[in-house]
Amino acid sequence: MSALDRNDPEVFKLVKSEEAYQQSTIRMIASENYTSKAVLEACGTVFQNKYSEGYPGARFYQGQVNCDAMELLAIERAKKLFGAEHANVQPYSGSPANLAVYLAFAKPGDTVLGLNLSHGGHLTHGSKASATGKWFNAVHYSLNPETELLDYDEIRRLALEHKPKLLIAGHSAYPRQLDFAKFRAIADEAGCILFVDMAHFAGLVAGGAHDNPVPYADVVTTTTHKTLRGPRGAMILCKEIHAKAIDKAVFPGLQGGPHNATTAGIAVALGEALKPEFSTYAKNVVANAKALAGELTKKGFKLVTGGTDNHLILIDLTTKGVPGKPAAVALEKAGIVLNYNTVPGETRKPSDPSGIRLGTPSITSRGFGISEMKKIADWMDAAVAHVEDDAFLAGIAKEVAALCAGFPVPGIE
Ligand SMILES: *Cc1c(COP(=O)(O)O)cnc(C)c1O
Repeated sequence: MSALDRNDPEVFKLVKSEEAYQQSTIRMIASENYTSKAVLEACGTVFQNKYSEGYPGARFYQGQVNCDAMELLAIERAKKLFGAEHANVQPYSGSPANLAVYLAFAKPGDTVLGLNLSHGGHLTHGSKASATGKWFNAVHYSLNPETELLDYDEIRRLALEHKPKLLIAGHSAYPRQLDFAKFRAIADEAGCILFVDMAHFAGLVAGGAHDNPVPYADVVTTTTHKTLRGPRGAMILCKEIHAKAIDKAVFPGLQGGPHNATTAGIAVALGEALKPEFSTYAKNVVANAKALAGELTKKGFKLVTGGTDNHLILIDLTTKGVPGKPAAVALEKAGIVLNYNTVPGETRKPSDPSGIRLGTPSITSRGFGISEMKKIADWMDAAVAHVEDDAFLAGIAKEVAALCAGFPVPGIE
């Protein structure tokens, strides 16, 4: 970092300050993680200097000998890790990857069917606030109001009624596993493309802690920076028959040149995910989430669906008498970082909803285990009972920092 320190102390100082912040807080944003030092290094290489419009062996620029090899390496590792017939590693992030799927399979005005945003879906699954909801006729399925679980009969009914081009499975805030065989059967019956967005749980799939959608889906998108623990980016995995349509949609349909340095970071992350240690990591992420869910339930927190079987927990704070936002703000003051979130059947505004969402990917990356989950639940319970008491919250933050000091984080010396 010495060149950065010399050339731009202002930026250097912010980087150091962020390192200290990520070291001394309990980070439980469900979509965040810590990449390894190797991933960070790969992203900060001379691959930043290259332009490579096109695909390996078919570029629009000369001088691609190393870029081609790097992209092919990332593609091969992605195919191997998920058992995919085809992989495109160029999407800049999860949202553009999803747009590429729309571009490949649908025309503006066509119908798509996805999970309601306020029930855990993503903006790009046809929310009115997103281009996907403005340019396509988006129909949404919701969670069953009693069980708070996906209702496959209802999804089937909507698919047969609306005959969508795309049936979208996947979520940003659903604490349970998905039944891809059921989604496949519905897509077959309705004659649509099954599009699985595994952005949140791809790392669990990679580590064998979640069913793999790749054998079932026509196309699967994922971010690379969430549970998969790589750099910020995305990939699209699909059946060979869709390879041309997907590649054309990404480039030249939506993007220009790929971010080659990110591709290098993705290759490194995929290499790490192919190692046996990553399965242990994925299983520990789920074990920690289940343990934390159990402790929180004991403290009287109401968990959506009653628990979790993936990496995330959604809490309806109504029973604690505190809305999600003031709770999230208070927890941040206590050194516990998560986000306020809508819950199924939300009665408040999305900007001031009833719940919070948290996840265990980051804290598991730094080695937290079952006994730390108990401490986190104690602190959360205390903080939520004292949202107005800054001195009390600062006291928790001190204890949090002391615990964190014993768990150095990956990527930071
Ligand atoms: C995070 C997420 C995305 C979008 O990823 P970005 O990289 O933030 O654009 C897409 N789909 C789902 C389900 C996600 O959780």
